[in-house]
Amino acid sequence: MRIARFSIDGNVAFGAVEGDQPDQLVLDIIKGIPFADFELSGTKVPLSKVRLLPPVLPNKVVAFGRNYAEHARELGNEVPDAPFAFFKPSTSVIGSGDQIQYPSFSQELHHEAELAVVIGRMCREVPRDRVADVILGFTCANDITARDVQRREKQWARAKGFDTSCPLGPWVETDIDLARAADLTIQLTVNGQQRQLGRTSEMIHSIEDLVVNVTEAMTLLPGDVILTGTPAGVGPLNVGDEVAVTIEGIGTLTNKVVKRG
Ligand code: MG
Repeated sequence: MRIARFSIDGNVAFGAVEGDQPDQLVLDIIKGIPFADFELSGTKVPLSKVRLLPPVLPNKVVAFGRNYAEHARELGNEVPDAPFAFFKPSTSVIGSGDQIQYPSFSQELHHEAELAVVIGRMCREVPRDRVADVILGFTCANDITARDVQRREKQWARAKGFDTSCPLGPWVETDIDLARAADLTIQLTVNGQQRQLGRTSEMIHSIEDLVVNVTEAMTLLPGDVILTGTPAGVGPLNVGDEVAVTIEGIGTLTNKVVKRG
């Protein structure tokens, strides 16, 4: 099931996305929230009539760096032995169709297409064989990075945590299991031109590894998100660009870059 979060007439709700034709998708409004047992209401609205919101409101986004060897090398970095994580704050999250605001303190904004894991239940110290139980589903992410600031500052809080630096969406796909998630095509275009193309099978540390690694340190809450790293091909974004992340079996996350007003 594809679960979207949206607003219509000032109300916010979750809905199950139905249909195959991109311009004819319909939302069946969910009674309740997708983190517990829920029912479909049967009340349907065309997706074109609503505003998509980020599919979840995470308490935290935990992102992993250099989890694809070719990407680590393209920026002149060593491939790390162990996974290493950083945070993107909840205020960095935007949905598909929202604008990425180019921050005033950077001259080098980069895109990073990533598979995002959406956590479905509160969990801590998750053993490998229980990882599937704590995942609600998967969505697309763009780990927008102020590369010049990342080089300049030891901690990445500003470089990767500024407002609008974490587009997520368009929805959460819940029908992808761990085996399939480990071998999906991940692609990014800027103004229709392909910049990144990889497969999640190229990850150094698996989704299971990453969930184990995060949860041995901290409790994850329903709606929290793990970003799994980006394949090679990262590059600059400019004001006016339209950037799109497409992951096989999930969908396309599209955002336009604007100057921060
Ligand atoms: Mg990244």
